[in-house]
Amino acid sequence: MKSLKELYKTGRGPSSSHTMGPTKACMAFKEEFPFCDGYEVTLFGSLSATGKGHLTDKVITETLAPKPVKVVFDDKTPCKRHPNTMTIEGFKDGVSAAKRTYYSVGGGAIEIEGFPSFDPPEVYPHNSFDDIKKFCTENKLKLWQYAEIYEGDGLWDYLENVWQTMNDCIDAGLKADGVLEGGLGTVRKARTLYEQYVLNEAQEMRENRLVCAYAFAASEQNAGGGIVVTAPTCGSCGVIPAVFRYLKQKNDVPDREILRALATAGIIGNIVKTNASISGAECGCQAEVGVACSMASAGIASLYGMDLDQIEYAAEIAIEHHLGLTCDPICGLVQIPCIERNAVAALRALNEVTLADFLSDTRKISFDVAVKTMYETGRDLAGGYRETAQGGLAKIYK
Ligand code: SF4
Repeated sequence: MKSLKELYKTGRGPSSSHTMGPTKACMAFKEEFPFCDGYEVTLFGSLSATGKGHLTDKVITETLAPKPVKVVFDDKTPCKRHPNTMTIEGFKDGVSAAKRTYYSVGGGAIEIEGFPSFDPPEVYPHNSFDDIKKFCTENKLKLWQYAEIYEGDGLWDYLENVWQTMNDCIDAGLKADGVLEGGLGTVRKARTLYEQYVLNEAQEMRENRLVCAYAFAASEQNAGGGIVVTAPTCGSCGVIPAVFRYLKQKNDVPDREILRALATAGIIGNIVKTNASISGAECGCQAEVGVACSMASAGIASLYGMDLDQIEYAAEIAIEHHLGLTCDPICGLVQIPCIERNAVAALRALNEVTLADFLSDTRKISFDVAVKTMYETGRDLAGGYRETAQGGLAKIYK
């Protein structure tokens, strides 16, 4: 498995594959061909189907500015290698001077046609939860200690920055109001939720309201093109910050413990990324919000001091009960169902941990089995349910 730094990435929303990846491709092209004085960028597959809603054209134009850019949405030519394909053609004095094809392969990473894929080094010697559990049990390690061994001390500075960015994102989202860009008329609701305090509010009601307010805040920032942390993706960036922020405030948890929970959650996300997928275009929303819920559940379980079996069970429940969750963003905007879905997943994560606490010794399904099942289910989903905005809510909603 690769470093957690490849999983938690900071950048502009609303989509790691539709904004972070294309931004990176444009920067690489500009650096390789600095002499170009104009560009034509063609988007294929999922980038074409939902690029408008995901602000792909906007980030491309801004990244290649001040040179003129024409963005073409090609929804006819099939993608051969990856559903998120784009070509950039550079011009000099009106004549084509350079051309490259890029694949936005998820999590903000890109590959270039004709070049060996840039593969960040493998940092961990194990790839499955079973192998990691065996190693941790033999060496009496917690998951965060396992991460520390292979990532080194630098991990904590990195995660501190991640945690700070997550909090900044929530703070900005709680202050913002108005309607999100895109034409759907989606009103920001985080602030309303946060301020809707009622006298003698029951503890459970307060918990639901605050967790949802934080998840809405981060997800609305993402939808508006704000700075977010992929956890594991932009579309699912609200789940982990929401539960950790809430638990930190409720239980006065020191930041050091939150960073350890982030490391634990990261190992879970990394296992899925390595053995299956965290891309909505590849496996539907189960791979984004489902995995975020799984990561959050494991992180909460570690904050509560639960053992490895209980952490595994919490993470497994989350994946198992998100199986089949489709990706169907209306108008290709990462707004409906995405924002609310982050809030619901955050609440579910808190509940799953309670179940894991009671029942972990009776479970039958391992985390690795749930991950394998999620991948197979995702690959079986019809194309309309994999970030194309052509199925489900995106199709039925008028
Ligand atoms: S429905 Fe889920 S996977 Fe699809 S764009 Fe929204 S958050 Fe991402």
